[in-house]
Amino acid sequence: MYLGNLVEVIHGRELLAKAVHPYTKALMDSIFDINMDFSNPIESINGETPSPLDLPEGCPFQGRCPHCMDICKKENPALIEIETDHNVACHLFKKSKG
Ligand code: SF4
Repeated sequence: MYLGNLVEVIHGRELLAKAVHPYTKALMDSIFDINMDFSNPIESINGETPSPLDLPEGCPFQGRCPHCMDICKKENPALIEIETDHNVACHLFKKSKG
């Protein structure tokens, strides 16, 4: 969830391998592990979190997303199924066929 919006629904066991939403992926990239390679840079999520009381029109993650497009500033993406038991709300993804 991001600011009260469901952005991705996926089984926990598939999270690391199959998560696709930019926010989910950014969260996965921010996990610390004592066995991690600390020579690799630790990624942070750029931008400011908007007030939940004054969300922008469109996608609530737009101000922090490196993939933001024009449509993201106009339409809040609907949660769609991109594969069985995997739903995402992001304009980068279209509903799978069949
Ligand atoms: S809808 Fe647009 S701004 Fe929102 S997460 Fe997807 S690409 Fe980023």
